[in-house]
Amino acid sequence: MKTPELVQEENRPSLNFIEQIIEQDLKNGKNESRVHTRFPPEPNGYLHIGHAKSICLNFGIAQKYNGKCNLRFDDTNPVKEDVEYVDSIMDDVKWLGFDWEDRLFFASDYFGQMYDYAIELIKQGKAFVCDLTAEEVSAMRGTPQKPADPSPYRNRTVEENLDLFERMKNGEFPDGSRTLRAKVDLASPNMHMRDPAIYRIRHAHHHRTGDQWCIYPMYDWAHGFEDSIEKITHSLCTLEFENHRPLYDWFLNQVDVFHPQQIEFARLNLTYTVMSKRKLLELVQGKLVSGWDDPRMPTISGMRRRGYTPASIRNFSDTIGIAKRDNVIDVALLEHHVREDLNKTAHRRMAVLNPLKLVITNYPEGKTEIMNGHNNPEDENAGTRAIPFSREIYIEQEDFMEDAPKKFFRLTVGAEVRLKYAYIIKCESVEKDSDGRITQVNCTYDPLTKSGSGTEESQRKVKGTLHWVDAHQHIEAQIRLYDRLFTVESPDGDKDQDYKDLLNPDSLSVIERALIEPSVKDAVYLDHFQFERQGYFNVDKDSTFSQMVFNRTVGLKDSWKKA
Ligand code: ATP
Ligand code: MG
Repeated sequence: MKTPELVQEENRPSLNFIEQIIEQDLKNGKNESRVHTRFPPEPNGYLHIGHAKSICLNFGIAQKYNGKCNLRFDDTNPVKEDVEYVDSIMDDVKWLGFDWEDRLFFASDYFGQMYDYAIELIKQGKAFVCDLTAEEVSAMRGTPQKPADPSPYRNRTVEENLDLFERMKNGEFPDGSRTLRAKVDLASPNMHMRDPAIYRIRHAHHHRTGDQWCIYPMYDWAHGFEDSIEKITHSLCTLEFENHRPLYDWFLNQVDVFHPQQIEFARLNLTYTVMSKRKLLELVQGKLVSGWDDPRMPTISGMRRRGYTPASIRNFSDTIGIAKRDNVIDVALLEHHVREDLNKTAHRRMAVLNPLKLVITNYPEGKTEIMNGHNNPEDENAGTRAIPFSREIYIEQEDFMEDAPKKFFRLTVGAEVRLKYAYIIKCESVEKDSDGRITQVNCTYDPLTKSGSGTEESQRKVKGTLHWVDAHQHIEAQIRLYDRLFTVESPDGDKDQDYKDLLNPDSLSVIERALIEPSVKDAVYLDHFQFERQGYFNVDKDSTFSQMVFNRTVGLKDSWKKA
């Protein structure tokens, strides 16, 4: 017989490979059984959904193992970095629901310590100041089979190196004229080990350290020490750093410091979008989108503005898990999680995007009834809202068809439909303008069919139910509908093709005058709704007192579930 413990063990969701490593380390008492991770963005752009994956992973691991996770800005390249990005990154991490508590760090705060470690490396004879240009170094790099040629400056004395490195720091030399390079292994098949540069000269203003430094550490030199100084136990990064790991370890082994473990995982790629910060910046600067928070962008700020919820992004991240091989995730899976979360919380409203006037000829003129609509049938406690109804209403243009095929269950002359929360109506005639366009449909209603009245007539089965909005009591709003930003699944998959040529010209369409039931009038930025039969919508930040603006977050149809 199975013990309860065994059953529990068997039913436990299986661990991903990073959790397996961590549990092994905990078992062995490594790092005094601490778990300490970090999320280390470079503040050179806004965060995107790939970063969200990394945030959920790092903070999630810390939560799961009772550990800690730092937010650390990897701000070692002053040229591309900016406080605007620092602020947006903090907003995004918080919004996703994670808390770095008092552990907000900046790599630039460690510049002094990193400089001292470099001095130590020089004193050990393992680093030298090199006067070669970047082009010369690259010409001498060799191939994986053929070792690199040694720099003619490789054998400078320790004293000369110390002197030159100090003068580099003091700003005596122009940008690009010298570097500090580690003496590692010119014959290593791993090109990163062939005397990599660890400091370069950059007379640039840094957003935190100002003009204090004119030499800046290279990523490989800086990152391991950042992790070490913060006593990070598991340094999780994406796969492209796998062949940097020997160098990460080599640097940390040269000085007597705490040695974290670097573990690589596959970055998240999504269909129909690009995820490189450089490309996203290009879209923003080229005004191909309205900004970093354009609702079509894969940025966290774009998704927030579009109406995605933190829970939907976290659930998505959990579902896709952690992989060791690069892969591409269908964006429909993300949309599925958005829908699933909003379905539970979004209040239902009726909105007509393309209005067609409908007159109920036998309904008393001047009368208004207040109908009751559920706020959310998924949530009994969500209550109801009042919906005005009168003789003149609007329905969706596409819900009426003059020459309707047999299977058309919406409105056509002679047919009956139910108006949601109201009555069953029958279409009697249409009116047209001089171009033959339908301008009005005339119907009659059956007063005994009022929804919720409990009469036998109200239970009558009709094939179609339409949403509608009262012709006199409603809100007019602008609605923005979104489609994929790109026309192909992998817009940066083809090196010979400029991804900008693959932008979808129809990714945004604007409906200037949609009609919505009046109960949305007090909604504020980010409030979301399900507009019945149309999808999930939220209030956009462009919304003003005189002009409400809504985004369609996502349609109702779930192409993922069916697949
Ligand atoms: P770059 O270094 O080119 O500026 P980056 O996307 O690597 O761009 P970082 O700010 O260095 O940006 O990333 C911060 C963290 O987020 C890193 O640990 C990185 O590995 C992780 N990360 C970035 N992109 C993804 C992605 N698509 N999937 C998962 N993690 C990612
Ligand atoms: Mg990076």
